[in-house]
Amino acid sequence: MTTQEPFVIVGGGLAGARAAETLRAEGFDRPVVLLADEPELPYERPPLSKDYLLGTAPREKAQVHDAGWYAEQDVDLRTGVRATALDVAGRSLTLGDGSELRYGAVLLATGASPRRLPVLGADLDGVRYLRTAADADELKAELSEGGRRVVVVGAGWIGLEVAAAARHHGNDVVVVEPQPTPLHAVLGPQMGAVFAGLHRDNGVDLLTGTSVREFRGSGGRVSSVVTDGHAGIPADLVVVGVGVVPNTQVAAAAGVEVDNGIVVSEGLRAAVPDVFAAGDVASAFHPLYGRHVRVEHWANALNQGQAVARSMLGQPVSYERVPYFFTDQYDLGMEYSGLAGPGDTVVCRGSVDERAFIAFWLADGRVTAGMNVNVWDVTGPIQELIRTRRQVPVASLTDPDTPLERLAA
Ligand SMILES: Cc1cc2nc3c(=O)[nH]c(=O)nc-3n(C[C@H](O)[C@H](O)[C@H](O)COP(=O)(O)OP(=O)(O)OC[C@H]3O[C@@H](n4cnc5c(N)ncnc54)[C@H](O)[C@@H]3O)c2cc1C
Repeated sequence: MTTQEPFVIVGGGLAGARAAETLRAEGFDRPVVLLADEPELPYERPPLSKDYLLGTAPREKAQVHDAGWYAEQDVDLRTGVRATALDVAGRSLTLGDGSELRYGAVLLATGASPRRLPVLGADLDGVRYLRTAADADELKAELSEGGRRVVVVGAGWIGLEVAAAARHHGNDVVVVEPQPTPLHAVLGPQMGAVFAGLHRDNGVDLLTGTSVREFRGSGGRVSSVVTDGHAGIPADLVVVGVGVVPNTQVAAAAGVEVDNGIVVSEGLRAAVPDVFAAGDVASAFHPLYGRHVRVEHWANALNQGQAVARSMLGQPVSYERVPYFFTDQYDLGMEYSGLAGPGDTVVCRGSVDERAFIAFWLADGRVTAGMNVNVWDVTGPIQELIRTRRQVPVASLTDPDTPLERLAA
């Protein structure tokens, strides 16, 4: 490593900002450059589909740090600046204006971008995606007027949170989902049905088992959505939430291994010298699962951002946190830990009907994932159960009088 060259972080999201913070917290006193292509201070995305979209929190609340922090910490934050190429042999990046920036180590924390829906009419005005604060500004302006016919394409996390916000502002909402239940791939049919019920109870017209074929417009603006089961669902506004793809272009063009994300070790290090990756873009070897895992969640960006900074400083790092996710929709708050497999069985403690319960996914009598819905302070023992891989009797898991701590101990 050329020690006098800066440590350069590409990507001003949560992972990048936390890495910069950790480099300084660990006493690194050489230059740190943070390249952020959005014209924004680094910010967290969860509020974009929750508090900010609902109008209950200001935009600035999502910022990781205020502007003064970067100056105080001597972090050279360059907003609106994109890294366009990486030269691994020459240890340099090319920036959007064509200039070169040499590095001692580089972190690729480039995140992910919404998957586009390749159907006729996808370019019409009023067909929106939600990833950035700018997207959220535009969406909020439209939703908060209320009284619109909003069609949400995709009953995944983003789609469902947008549907909840749209209902909150008094819009008519139709959700279109090809699978039989919302969140089918992550939660399976039984728990997906909980979210179906939640949204229907809140006035959403949830259409499952049907795929979008076309958006139709009038005067250049979307006016209806055609699915394989519906000839024309009226729409003033469409929000597409059909997943994300990792931003791997710069890495791939540089010859860094990419396979559903930038492939890195448990220390978040790529196979080429002094190149690291963290957050949504990283497919990291996970010792708990014995394979590479790419996690598209807030806690992963936060914790990997911290871990990768230590790895860049040469400290021994093995990132093995249990994947964790949270969501808030209407009056339902939930946390999900672990990774359930398609054949896992689900058992519950508490009341599913009242939406106050914990669901456990089991394979071979071992807990692979747990989801607490409107039940709090149980993430620690749930994650411990997942980590230990101990076989646990179903009767104990489902018995609310058996403390989870005891099962996990
Ligand atoms: C609306 C929304 C709601 C969410 N809600 C939740 C939630 O409730 N719970 C949860 O766990 N997770 C949630 N997530 C997911 C979570 O926000 C992400 O996992 C997290 O943002 C990932 O952080 P990151 O730093 O890896 O990437 P990002 O946040 O994507 O940041 C990467 C940044 O790098 C920039 N960039 C890319 N390429 C370059 C380049 N070449 N040069 C310079 N900059 C570049 C990108 O423009 C972006 O600004 C949500 C996501 C969204 C969009």
